[in-house]
Amino acid sequence: MSTDLGAIMKVADRPPVVMVEGHGSWLEDEEGKTYLDFVQGWAVNCLGHCPSVIVETITFQASRLINCSPAYYNAEMARLARLLADASGLGQVFFCNSGAEANEGAIKLARKWGARHHGGAFHIITMDHGFHGRTLATMAASGKAAWETLFEPKVSGFTKVPLGDLDAVKRAITPQTVAVMLEPIQGEAGVYPASDDFLRGLRALTQDEGLLLILDEIQTGIGRTGRLFGFEHAGIEPDILTLGKGLGGGIPLAALLASDAVSCFEYGDQGGTFNGSALMAAIGAAVIEIVARPEFLAGVTASGDYLAQRLRELSTALGHGEIRGRGLLLALQLKGLDAAKVARIALDRGLLINAPRPDTLRFMPALDVTRNEIDQMLELLEGVLRET
Ligand code: PLP
Repeated sequence: MSTDLGAIMKVADRPPVVMVEGHGSWLEDEEGKTYLDFVQGWAVNCLGHCPSVIVETITFQASRLINCSPAYYNAEMARLARLLADASGLGQVFFCNSGAEANEGAIKLARKWGARHHGGAFHIITMDHGFHGRTLATMAASGKAAWETLFEPKVSGFTKVPLGDLDAVKRAITPQTVAVMLEPIQGEAGVYPASDDFLRGLRALTQDEGLLLILDEIQTGIGRTGRLFGFEHAGIEPDILTLGKGLGGGIPLAALLASDAVSCFEYGDQGGTFNGSALMAAIGAAVIEIVARPEFLAGVTASGDYLAQRLRELSTALGHGEIRGRGLLLALQLKGLDAAKVARIALDRGLLINAPRPDTLRFMPALDVTRNEIDQMLELLEGVLRET
């Protein structure tokens, strides 16, 4: 390896390869080795690496207007906000730069709404094993056991319940409760879906109790599950929605959406230097205009069904466990193999897959991944699983 990596802060256990180029489903390192990428920036590059639509949008918009500061409106910000509001049914949109920042905003908005409309309530019920980001509040909202003693003292006001247990949610409600917050599919936990029934039950319960329903669709949104938003499968609508990852197709863009009734920030409550820049918003609009097309979403569903079916066959043949997930957010439950080791060997063989848990492999290819690329991935994966 020729690149000097010494000045990069060590916050992740990265393999000793340095990526230099990417196109579609393929990445290349500085040695010229290529990798079939089924991680795609952790479900970020929804249109693959360096898609021409993003390259062209960046080039055009960068020569016109990059950032006029959040002190002023810009046309691209307005266009993307309108696209998201119309598609989601949530009338108000705030742009930011990361999923954690969008969730931090969702927590603040729920607290503000609680202060104004729900007797000062500020507690939020979240799910065991949930993941909402790495700011102090979003870490406290997350249900990762390993974080329980990190960075004390915690931001208070989060009560955890098991995913899928509506009675536990009911029992956890107190006069201090303002909202329930969850991911439609727990991605980082290992791809554990909330059932459509559970989501419908939560919607009815929160409505009956006068509470907010916050959906974190950082990972499940923007077509990942075969619908533009994961909540569409359950036929419900949240009060607050957060988006990130795929929204920018690889560049840092996230959004906090709220219904008109819930959107109660006052001037100065929320903001940020880069928020809603013309460059980022133009890219987000270009992504949405492609991903929201019915034929594109039908393609995601078809590719997801095919990948799930082929993974199921492989898992059965090799004695592994269930396939979980929806669309192109899928996991394979391993039996008797260390997922991190499988992912490391796969990398050596030129395949990038992710191991969110010691016994789980996660697959998050580009949403326009081809059958041929899925077949190549399965062939490589079979070789790795047989050998590990
Ligand atoms: N919420 C969910 C469901 C996520 O999957 C992630 C990232 O993996 C986040 C929040 C945090 O997003 P970011 O890493 O952009 O801050």
